[in-house]
Amino acid sequence: MSDLLDIPGLPDIPGLLARIGNTPLVPLRNIGRGLPVPVLVKCEHLNPGGSIKDRIALAMVDDAERRGALPAGGTLIEATAGNTGMGLALVAALRGYTLVCVMPEKMSVDKRVALAALGARVIITPNAPPTSADNFRNVAARLAVEHGWFLTDQFRNPSNVTIHQETTGREILAQTGGRVGAFVAGAGTGGTISGVGRTLHDRLPNVRIVLADPIGSGLADWVETGVLGADGSYAVEGIGGSEVPANLHRDVIDAAERVSDEESFAMVRRLWREEGLLVGGSSGTNVVAALRVAARGGLDGPVVTILPDSWDRYRAKPWMAACAID
Ligand code: PMP
Repeated sequence: MSDLLDIPGLPDIPGLLARIGNTPLVPLRNIGRGLPVPVLVKCEHLNPGGSIKDRIALAMVDDAERRGALPAGGTLIEATAGNTGMGLALVAALRGYTLVCVMPEKMSVDKRVALAALGARVIITPNAPPTSADNFRNVAARLAVEHGWFLTDQFRNPSNVTIHQETTGREILAQTGGRVGAFVAGAGTGGTISGVGRTLHDRLPNVRIVLADPIGSGLADWVETGVLGADGSYAVEGIGGSEVPANLHRDVIDAAERVSDEESFAMVRRLWREEGLLVGGSSGTNVVAALRVAARGGLDGPVVTILPDSWDRYRAKPWMAACAID
């Protein structure tokens, strides 16, 4: 569906959905000072819905419309940590769909309130493991079948990876003049690291693709050995996990860095105060890992990482309150 509105007498003025992507890439001028290579951050928190997930929300709906899988005025359902839900809510509002979001109770109340404010129906599930019928992904899949709703299915939908290959990855190549020493990102669905990793590996033989993983997630062990590590708990939202999503492609990942909640949240505070970057918890995880990779040296160019979302969705979280106090 075209998002261009033809207004007589005016030049083409792109609609909101055309403002998704093409985000700025900026250097960490203070936090990254003195390292052998610069650390550059891609400001995905500046997307219209406040996260990197706007990209995949639009891509999955575009793809479903193209395939004729989504009837006009139909209902979308997604299992979401919140950000994909926000992106889908924007797309649903502008394109006339109804949205149902299934979220685990661990996710911040700010995200729930924002989704409900945007008109989505929000279903909260217990923090249940993937084997449980109460797990958020299983609940979403079941409701989709029962009601005939369209499951966007970010964990499996191949357009999640493809859009990062075609947009995020290519933007990074263009913005760095094709010089990237390493790319660092956490994995929730795996779409970002798999898609960007694929595009960079295709163009740059020496680039290193590094997973930033919260301590408590099993994915770092899986990257290193092929076997998932023990399942623990951690407070950073949106990344890590105790199973491997179909959209996380091990063949594009070269290494993993483990980052504690404490390190992540301390870095988020530095990103706010020293760089003016108003971002959420997983940005801290990514930057801690990116600084380690940069400090080790031996790279062909700068380290690039992602700031996946905005701080505004964590206001009710204890870690955010703790960070705000001196
Ligand atoms: N950070 C946050 C806050 C997220 O919500 C997500 C997506 N769940 C990610 C990082 C990871 O992105 P991806 O799903 O592309 O692996």
